[in-house]
Amino acid sequence: MKVHLHQIPEGDTLHIEGEENPSALGLEEAGATPVSQLRYSLDVGCSGGGLFATGELSITVRMTCVVCLEEFDQEIVISPFALQLDELQGELIDLTPLAREDIHLSLPAHPRCDSGGERSCPASRNTAPGTAWHSSSTPATAWDALDTFKSKSK
Ligand SMILES: [Zn+2]
Repeated sequence: MKVHLHQIPEGDTLHIEGEENPSALGLEEAGATPVSQLRYSLDVGCSGGGLFATGELSITVRMTCVVCLEEFDQEIVISPFALQLDELQGELIDLTPLAREDIHLSLPAHPRCDSGGERSCPASRNTAPGTAWHSSSTPATAWDALDTFKSKSK
């Protein structure tokens, strides 16, 4: 996700999108093996001597379910993604290292193979997933956000 500063139109944003090798993200250290390229779609602009970017990132990783210990693939989607860089060094800016933390934070701390809703975890098939999730005392907005995330991550 490299961007040349001179390509960013003054007072406007530059749209960049594509795929790149995720090796710089160090996801294996977090127990997630990338099985796709890092896909990005960003609008990059300059403001006040700095740089900002907004858009969406996604990558499919292979993780191990904490319940059944089977490996499964899950698409991690970071949308909306936003970053801000206040100090620019050089003319060619690589945004990938700046996205690393966001992607790591988006990885589930306790990955479950049934979190995508597409399969049921063989180790918890007899339980009724979801019943505890819709308690009436919970603010609806958080669950709406979660549903949005889930539907996008398919
Ligand atoms: Zn499982």
